[in-house]
Amino acid sequence: MKIELTRHKVHNEFAKKVELISGQNLFACYQCGNCTAGCPVAFAMEVGPHEVIRYTLLGLEEEALGVNTFWLCASCLQCTSRCPKGIDIARVMDALRSVVLRKKERKDHIQIPEFPEGFLERLPQIAFVSGFRKFLS
Ligand code: SF4
Ligand code: SF4
Repeated sequence: MKIELTRHKVHNEFAKKVELISGQNLFACYQCGNCTAGCPVAFAMEVGPHEVIRYTLLGLEEEALGVNTFWLCASCLQCTSRCPKGIDIARVMDALRSVVLRKKERKDHIQIPEFPEGFLERLPQIAFVSGFRKFLS
């Protein structure tokens, strides 16, 4: 993809919002790729966490929010522990989910009334809580 760099793109509202929600300085990222290299779910992601960060920094909101990366993130913190710049990437993934979930036109991905009978009793608690964090506001 060809990306034209402009001041407007680099100092954009979308990146500011993600920084505000995550509390992380995205501009510290120098795209070493360590986060993606250690991510156990990267094989299934459309783009790696480092690429999502790049999209965000460039103000490419549609591209950043349109990939499955942050939905698949298991919040394992491997990326966070590997980042040489001290960026808590797991928090950035959480922030991206929050941006989508806070949109007015969003759609809940979990409908509790549609769960089959007895499903909730069998579901591991941690998976249930994790699902709520990801798919409901
Ligand atoms: S490990 Fe840190 S510095 Fe390297 S690409 Fe990932 S977020 Fe950026
Ligand atoms: S916290 Fe998410 S993005 Fe980071 S390594 Fe774990 S699964 Fe991958």
